[in-house]
Amino acid sequence: MARIKQLPFEVSQKIAAGEVIERPFSVVKELVENSLDAGASEIRVELLAGGKRLIRVQDDGLGMSREDAELCFERHATSKLRSEKDLEKISTLGFRGEALASISAVSEMVLKTSDGQEDQGTGVERKAGQVVAVKDIAFPRGTSIEVKDIFYNLPARRKFLRSEQSELGYIVRYLSGVALAYPEVRFSLLQARREIMDCPRVGSHRERLFQLYGKDVLNRLLEVDFREGRGWVFGYSSRPPLGRSGRAHQLFFVNKRLVKDRVLQAALNQAYRGFLEKDRFPEAFLFLTLPYDEVDVNVHPTKAEVRFRESQLVFYLLLRSIETALLKERGLKEIYPRAGEAGSTIGVGERTASLPTRAARLEGPEQMALCESARAQEEKGRPRVLGQYLDMYIVAAGEEGLLVIDQHNAHERVLFEKYREIDVQKKWPRKTPLVPVLFDLSPAQIVSLEKNQPLLEEAGFRAEAMGGRTFALNSFPDIFEAEEARDVLLQLLDEIGEEESGRRREKMLAAMACKTAVKAHEPLAPDKMDYLVEELFRTSNPALCPHGRPIIVKIEKAEIERGLKRNP
Ligand code: ADP
Ligand code: MG
Repeated sequence: MARIKQLPFEVSQKIAAGEVIERPFSVVKELVENSLDAGASEIRVELLAGGKRLIRVQDDGLGMSREDAELCFERHATSKLRSEKDLEKISTLGFRGEALASISAVSEMVLKTSDGQEDQGTGVERKAGQVVAVKDIAFPRGTSIEVKDIFYNLPARRKFLRSEQSELGYIVRYLSGVALAYPEVRFSLLQARREIMDCPRVGSHRERLFQLYGKDVLNRLLEVDFREGRGWVFGYSSRPPLGRSGRAHQLFFVNKRLVKDRVLQAALNQAYRGFLEKDRFPEAFLFLTLPYDEVDVNVHPTKAEVRFRESQLVFYLLLRSIETALLKERGLKEIYPRAGEAGSTIGVGERTASLPTRAARLEGPEQMALCESARAQEEKGRPRVLGQYLDMYIVAAGEEGLLVIDQHNAHERVLFEKYREIDVQKKWPRKTPLVPVLFDLSPAQIVSLEKNQPLLEEAGFRAEAMGGRTFALNSFPDIFEAEEARDVLLQLLDEIGEEESGRRREKMLAAMACKTAVKAHEPLAPDKMDYLVEELFRTSNPALCPHGRPIIVKIEKAEIERGLKRNP
């Protein structure tokens, strides 16, 4: 029974044109979307060389008849769209009838399929867009598609592919995303026969989140569940004041389609304004369900973007849904720890577990000596510390005015330069914990760990696979306590996973400096402030922290005089 038809010219003309296949990730995305459209309950993705040598996607969906198996490679051949009218409310992921044609033009393909109705399954081999063979085969109901050597016939395009690990990274991120949207489907991923991901079917998004990111994920996320009019927003987003250092952890799904969208991003950011620490971004996995005719999916060749018929309404729907979740949380407990609450001096109070280390980082005999020499130099133009303001700023008197120095950013700059020096000399002192620290990694973090292993090992981080997604931290740089080291490692895996190799080392050192620097809301003793200011002015750039944020605000003497109507 044939289901596929070639779209009439008038309809195919209406479909957003452009390149569908850019890299192995695009192939995986198109094939997985086809499997989902075919109603699969199990999807298995296998790769060799990050998909550059081989991509195989196998499903237990509807399968295809012999006739369809031959037709599906034609341009604009689809079973999902018939007329122009259908374009107004598309409920399937695919509808363009272009993916298999485009993939087949740039690779060698093998299709194996059976719809469970005909006596025999069908095998089709194609090369560079031409049929090589069509055979009877024995095959269970479902479909397997193999794509070999993508762009083998277009060397210029093949050259633009990134390293195996980078290509694998794109694929893992995508699969983690769709797996989250379809908890009722089993997803597995193998790279070079090694299992990177296996998520058996579960009954809820919550359980899927747990399968993908481990048990800690639910501590840092709030549940969102909000209906208004014909819209529904469900999902998870950051529990303040926690957040992430970038936007890579914001996934939006509209009618189960993973999309990039500025309206949704803006609504999320607005909802979190004032709830997160500076330079943190909310983490979010949000599923919007909207009537199909409210969403135009035919705006982008790879279907990564959508257009809302009424984007204002969607903006406010998302904004209110997050605000509601945040307010509910606020009713239960205060969002920010108040300044000074953690004890009035460093090393005292409930945070004793981590604070003594920070204090040590600001003390030590070497630093004490520095403080002495600084005091001796007092009259030679070095800014003189007057005191601390709001437990977060150091106020100092400089030659031409008052300086307000952000204590965290300043310490970050100081430590960053120290760490860079240690790093250049490859002399990271390391610690081995008595009991290894265990932690779970997400599939994307596992890939990042493999990719960045040499860099991390140089800095003293050694993590060993314990089976499944569990890892043990066997050694780490001795500037950290065990728990801190684990947090930093997890943060590094997220942040340096996507960086170009040149910037990874800088990012790593910046993250380590950030973690070990004094925080805002930590009261500082006068000698520590002296030391910090002294050290800051020895660095190569006292004005900017390693993340590029300003460290100092200057109130000019002239400005003070103007304000007080004093003539100098
Ligand atoms: P589209 O998904 O936009 O229809 P594709 O080129 O991706 O276009 O696929 C063409 C057609 O091939 C689909 O409409 C569908 O009928 C059939 N097809 C592709 N993959 C599968 C699959 N895994 N299972 C069943 N049918 C499939
Ligand atoms: Mg498709």
